[in-house]
Amino acid sequence: MSQKSAKLTFWGVRGSTPTVDRSTWRYGGNTPCLEFVATDGKRFILDCGTGLRHLGRRYMEMPSEGPLEAVVLVTHYHWDHIQGLPFFSPFVPEQNHFHFFSFQSKYLGEDSLKRVLQTQMATPYFPVDVSIFHCKREYTEIAGGDTIQFGETRVITKWLNHPQGCLGFRLETPAGIVVYATDNEPGVPDLDRDLRKLAEGADIFIHDAQYTPEQLRTTQKGWGHSTWLEGISVVRDAGAKNLVLFHHDPDSSDRGVDAILRQTRQQYANAWAASEGMVMTLDQKKMDVVMRDSRAGQRREGFFRATIVGYSEEGRAFQEETIIRDLTLHGALLYLENTPRLQSELQVMMEAPVDELHPDGRIPLRGYVVRREPAQDENRNAVGIVFAEEVEPDRG
Ligand SMILES: [Zn+2]
Ligand SMILES: [Zn+2]
Repeated sequence: MSQKSAKLTFWGVRGSTPTVDRSTWRYGGNTPCLEFVATDGKRFILDCGTGLRHLGRRYMEMPSEGPLEAVVLVTHYHWDHIQGLPFFSPFVPEQNHFHFFSFQSKYLGEDSLKRVLQTQMATPYFPVDVSIFHCKREYTEIAGGDTIQFGETRVITKWLNHPQGCLGFRLETPAGIVVYATDNEPGVPDLDRDLRKLAEGADIFIHDAQYTPEQLRTTQKGWGHSTWLEGISVVRDAGAKNLVLFHHDPDSSDRGVDAILRQTRQQYANAWAASEGMVMTLDQKKMDVVMRDSRAGQRREGFFRATIVGYSEEGRAFQEETIIRDLTLHGALLYLENTPRLQSELQVMMEAPVDELHPDGRIPLRGYVVRREPAQDENRNAVGIVFAEEVEPDRG
């Protein structure tokens, strides 16, 4: 049955290697993996980086509507685009069916992707081999310039400029066009032209923005990646609508990606930085973006007056008085006469103004002791706590 919207979900947005450092959590540390659900409900998986494991977990938790079937499009064989494959649990059940599409690498020969999966799980690199996977797997070789029709979706491919080769994908659906072109270094005229053709009139253009223009000119030249500035040049030339900056450098912190996005938006307003859990929906060529809830820590309702200063969707500066209704609390420093055990839990009752939300004038919290040291006041200890989450924050 045909539904009129198509949905794109980002499961991994980081380039080169996964990052677990705290400073990268907001955009996310998993390597490339996107899921596209087309207007006719057909599922596509774009790349198999570590984000694929989380997508697999989601599929396994979904109320079963029968066997799971998906088309898997793999851009190339660098680690960051394949390392989720051995950890994709939907490969285990016999009834599931995956159809893989990727190019024949001159280094790997026939059935390149099949070999990649076997080799990833070969002794002594992995504890078990591919025989643990019982799903049906079919492999089809494709090359730049191919067009393949899957139900209501037409997929067009082009070669990109990347060491050992890489494919860009254009997915055309009745709801709109998505172009996924990561791992690409500009500077080869024929391929630069092909990329613009691939991106022509796209509603969503996802592009490699790993480096700064300065890095691309100097130290990172030849590594096969691009910049936000090149992304703007492509969307302008191709008449694409929304630019999504993708394949963030593992050394780019959240603040670093914020700065890249800010610079991009100064020159091209319809720009977004790909972020784990971000969902872009296309409906009759209109695009809507929803971000995953990324507030970790204890949430408490409250009633605090605040002044907010910012910019509107149209880029207009505003200032507004409002009420904060819900705060996330991360941690606190307490001065205690007692000495709580390190790594133990504390009940914390914080006083609050008596109001509808807090008739007893208290906000209850749970703290986890992370630090103790003598306070300057000699009868007391300074105790550092982090507030424990009530529910596991969904990092997937
Ligand atoms: Zn990559
Ligand atoms: Zn690559």
